[in-house]
Amino acid sequence: MKKLIIAGNWKLYIEQVEEAKKLGLALKRKAASFSGLDMVLFPPAPFISAVAAGVKNSSIAVGAQTISSFEEGAHTGYISARTVKDVGATWALVGHSERRAQMLDGIKAAAETEETIQAEMKAAERAGLKVILCVGEEERDPSGAHFATIARQLSSALAHFPKSGAKLAIAYEPVWAIGKSAAEACKPADLEEMAIFIRRTLSELFDRTIATKIPILYGGSVDATNAKELLGTGGVSGFLVGRASTDAKSFIELLHAVR
Ligand code: PEP
Repeated sequence: MKKLIIAGNWKLYIEQVEEAKKLGLALKRKAASFSGLDMVLFPPAPFISAVAAGVKNSSIAVGAQTISSFEEGAHTGYISARTVKDVGATWALVGHSERRAQMLDGIKAAAETEETIQAEMKAAERAGLKVILCVGEEERDPSGAHFATIARQLSSALAHFPKSGAKLAIAYEPVWAIGKSAAEACKPADLEEMAIFIRRTLSELFDRTIATKIPILYGGSVDATNAKELLGTGGVSGFLVGRASTDAKSFIELLHAVR
């Protein structure tokens, strides 16, 4: 059985460095009792260094919520893959739906396109970062168009990614399930079906043996109440967790639920 990966995307929920350090330390204290899983924390970029220092000598890794598609140069305000690596990140999230180009509440949100996502994948790889590539459809329809969306996102983002498939995990994050209640998360049977589809798509993009080794995670309203059931079908080997990862109590409850 693959080792579980439980990743916490703190988004903008954590706004103060002391709060970030405290959460990191609370999880570090528990990490040894969850040796069957790997934890990865994604704090806001300015806190990567402090959180990484705090969880040092534990099994917890730290990552960046995003990296620039530029590797260096005159790009004001961007943070490169090499920079986040230098301050302690070993992972990066790429292609999170909250960063893909889309309209949110009438405002054009971050403009990551398939081209910039490809460039981020390359930048991460060149910096030696591991990547959680997020894919997910905005809505489902009975004709199954969401499968084509996922296939397109995967094949585009991975077009130039090393065929070794090392340092890669995929997070299936249907946009319609993010930030909702646990009851509105993807249903286990639908998740299993999508995980099989993602695995099949990966085996067209990578060697078959390599494709079986790439972890597939799920993200979208996971917490301690639905985690076990979502893992139950065996399609995914972990989670990318937003809201429930930003509080030590709910994160630790989730860890207990999946142990
Ligand atoms: C996410 O945005 O990556 C996510 C999974 O969020 P939540 O768990 O809050 O739905």
